[in-house]
Amino acid sequence: MIHRAERDLVLEAARRTVALRLTHGTSGNVSARVADGMAITPSGLDYQSLIREDVVMMALDGTPEPGQTRVPSSEWRMHAAIYRARADVRAIVHGHSPAATAVACLGRDIPPFHYMIAVAGGDSIRCAPYAPFGTEALAALALGALFDRRACLLAHHGLLAVGATMDQALAVAAETEFLAELLLRLLPLGEPRVLSPAQLADVLERFRHYGQRGPG
Ligand code: 13P
Ligand code: ZN
Repeated sequence: MIHRAERDLVLEAARRTVALRLTHGTSGNVSARVADGMAITPSGLDYQSLIREDVVMMALDGTPEPGQTRVPSSEWRMHAAIYRARADVRAIVHGHSPAATAVACLGRDIPPFHYMIAVAGGDSIRCAPYAPFGTEALAALALGALFDRRACLLAHHGLLAVGATMDQALAVAAETEFLAELLLRLLPLGEPRVLSPAQLADVLERFRHYGQRGPG
C-alpha cells in the first residue's frame, strides 16, 4: 500500500473533526496534499468505520490512482482547486459545525471583534456565496473567499479551513467555530465592537513570534 502515511494522516484527522465537533454523521471532508495530488476522505462513509484503504488518492485534475474502489469526497473539486491555487496549503478541513454553519446561514462574514481572528490570516473570515455542494461553482467561490486567508464560511453550508500542516488546518477550523459561537452570543446584544486596522496589524505581527521557538 503506497501513501500509507498520508492516508493515516487523513484518517486520523477525519476522526478528530468528529471528536472536535467540527462535523457529524457523514458530513465534512478532509484532505492532505501529496507530491502528485491529494489524499481525501471517501464520500458518504462514517469516519469511525474507515480503514486506511478507504482514503482516496487522486491527482489534482480528479484522476484517481488506479486500483481504488472508493468514490472520493463529493467536494474533491473544492480541495483540488485550493491545492492548485495555493502552494502554501498542504491540508484542508471542511465541516458542518453548528456555530459556523449558523453564521454561514446568515450569509455573514465574521468581523474582527476578537484578536484570534488573526489565526485565519486577516481581519475577517469571509462567507462565500451559496453554490450547491460538490460543484465547480462552489470550488471557485470558496477559493475567492479564502484569498489571503486560512478559513472561510460557505453560505447555507458550513466552514472550510486550510493549513500548511494538518494540525494547523484543524486548529484554524476549531478557532473559526469558536469565533462563530462568540458572534452568535454577541449578536443578540447588538453589533459587536471591532478592533481597529492598527490593532489587528499589531496582532498579526505578534503572531509571527508567538509560541515556542523552533529547534536550534
Ligand atoms: P462527502 O461525504 O462526499 O465528503 O460530502 C460531505 C459534505 O460535507 C459535502 O459538502
Ligand atoms: Zn459540506
